[in-house]
Amino acid sequence: MALKTGAEYIESLKGLNLTVYANGEKIENIVDHPLIRPHVNAAAMTYELAHDPAFEDLMTATSHLTGKKINRFTHIHQSTDDLIKKVKMLRMISQRTGTCYQRCVGFDAINALYSVSYEMDQKLGTDYHQKVRRYVEYLQENDLMVAGSMTDPKGDRSLPPSKQADPDLFVHLVEKNDEGIVIRGAKAHQTGIVNSHEMLIMPTTALGPDDKAYAVACAVPTDAPGVLHIFGRQTNDDRKFGEIDQGNAKFGIVGGEALTVLENVFVPWERVFMCEEYEWAGTLVERFASYHRQNYGGCKGGVSDIVVGAAATIADYNGTAKASHIKDKITEMIHLTETLYAGSIACSAEGRPTPSGAYFVDPLLANVVKHNVTRLIYEIDRLAQDIAGGFIATLPSEKDLRHPEIGKYVEKYFKGVASVSTEDRIRIARLIENMTGGTALVESMHGAGSPQAQRVSIVRQSNLETKKRFAKILAGIKVD
Ligand code: SF4
Ligand code: FE
Repeated sequence: MALKTGAEYIESLKGLNLTVYANGEKIENIVDHPLIRPHVNAAAMTYELAHDPAFEDLMTATSHLTGKKINRFTHIHQSTDDLIKKVKMLRMISQRTGTCYQRCVGFDAINALYSVSYEMDQKLGTDYHQKVRRYVEYLQENDLMVAGSMTDPKGDRSLPPSKQADPDLFVHLVEKNDEGIVIRGAKAHQTGIVNSHEMLIMPTTALGPDDKAYAVACAVPTDAPGVLHIFGRQTNDDRKFGEIDQGNAKFGIVGGEALTVLENVFVPWERVFMCEEYEWAGTLVERFASYHRQNYGGCKGGVSDIVVGAAATIADYNGTAKASHIKDKITEMIHLTETLYAGSIACSAEGRPTPSGAYFVDPLLANVVKHNVTRLIYEIDRLAQDIAGGFIATLPSEKDLRHPEIGKYVEKYFKGVASVSTEDRIRIARLIENMTGGTALVESMHGAGSPQAQRVSIVRQSNLETKKRFAKILAGIKVD
C-alpha cells in the first residue's frame, strides 16, 4: 500500500513495539504522549500533504524501481528537477508546520546509500546495491518513515573509534555469522526516531584499517530486539503539558531527538549494506552530509566570561581543546566579549557632567555598546554552541541519568574524555544550554530597548554634518 494518509501513518505507529524512556519513565503509548505527540503530528504532515492535489507534484514521485506513485520522501532523485522539487517540498511543508518534520534525514540516507553502494559494488564486486534497491522498494511500497542514523556518541573526540576507552562509543560489529551480523553501540541525536518505522545505520566518520569493525551500514526496525530509545529533553519541555505556552503546540520544536542504544542487535544479511569496507565510510558520510546540507545562518561581558569559560571547559571534556579551530573560536569569543566591555569603558570615560553636576555617559558610545550586544552576544553564544556540540540540545533528563535501569546508558554514551565524569560533562552542557538559549538571547536583543531605538539615537548623535564637512575639505570642495 503506497501513500499512507497522516492518520494511517499514526495508526501504523501504534502497531510498533518500541522501547522508549523519557524523563525517567517508560513510555507505553508514544503516539499520545505530550512530549512526543507534536513530533508525530509534524511527521504526519509528510504523509497528509501527499494527498493534497495542490501539492501532488511536489509531494509525490514516480518510483524508478516500480513505476508506481510514491511519497517523495521515499524517492531516489532522478533528475535536477527532483532535487529542486525536494527543496520546494521542504519549504512548503515548513510553511505549514513551522518546525522539523524529521523525515528528510532518512530520505537523504537512502539516497546517499543508493549511489555509494553502487560504486562499492563496481569496485569491490559486492552485492550491496541490489539489497539497497530492494530495501528502498520495501520503503516505497509501505510508505515507511526511516530515521537516518549516523551520529555516534564519539566519546573523546581526539581519538578514533578503535582507540576509545569504551569500544561502544561508535557502533561496531560484534559478530558475523551465516544469517547476518550483530552490532553494538548507540546513535545520538536521533531525529524523529521514536516515531519512525525504520533506522538506517551508517558510519559517522571516515575510517582507517584499525577501525574496520566500525564500517557498518544496515537497516534495523526501530522496535527490533536490543534497540532502546532515551528521549532527549528540550528547553522548557514542561510546557508541552499545556498549550498556549508552547508556541507551536501542534507541531512542537525541532524533531524530538533521542539517544538510541543498540545492545547486540541482530541484522540479517539482506539488510546489511556495508560490512568492514572501511575505505567507503568517508564517501558515504560525505554524500549523506551533502544531501542533508542542501536543506539548510559590563553585565553581558561578565555573562560572556562564563560562556567563554564553559565553552573552553566543554572543549576539554570533549577532547577538542587542542584543535586549532576550537582555539580560534575561543579567541574570537574573548575578542567579542572584550569589544563589548571596551565600549562600556569608553562611553563611561567619555562621560560628561550634566548641568546638575551629575555625569552622563557618552550617549553615542552607550548606544553603540547596546547595539553591539544585540549582535555580538548572538555570535558569542553561537560559537559556544558550536564548540559544545549538538548534545546540549538533545540530552536526556537527570531522571534518566539516575534511573536504575537506563541510567547506565546515559552514563556510558554521554561520556567524553575518559578522565571526566559524565555527570560533570552534562552539568557544563546544561549551563551552556541555559546561557545561550532563547530567553537569554531575546533579553540581549530587547533589554534596554530594541536595536532600532539605538539606531535612531546613533544617527541623531553622530554629527553627520561635521563628517560631511571633513570629507568636502579633503576633496577640495568649498565649505562655509
Ligand atoms: Fe528535515 Fe532536517 Fe529540516 Fe528536520 S531539520 S525538517 S529533518 S531538513
Ligand atoms: Fe535536523
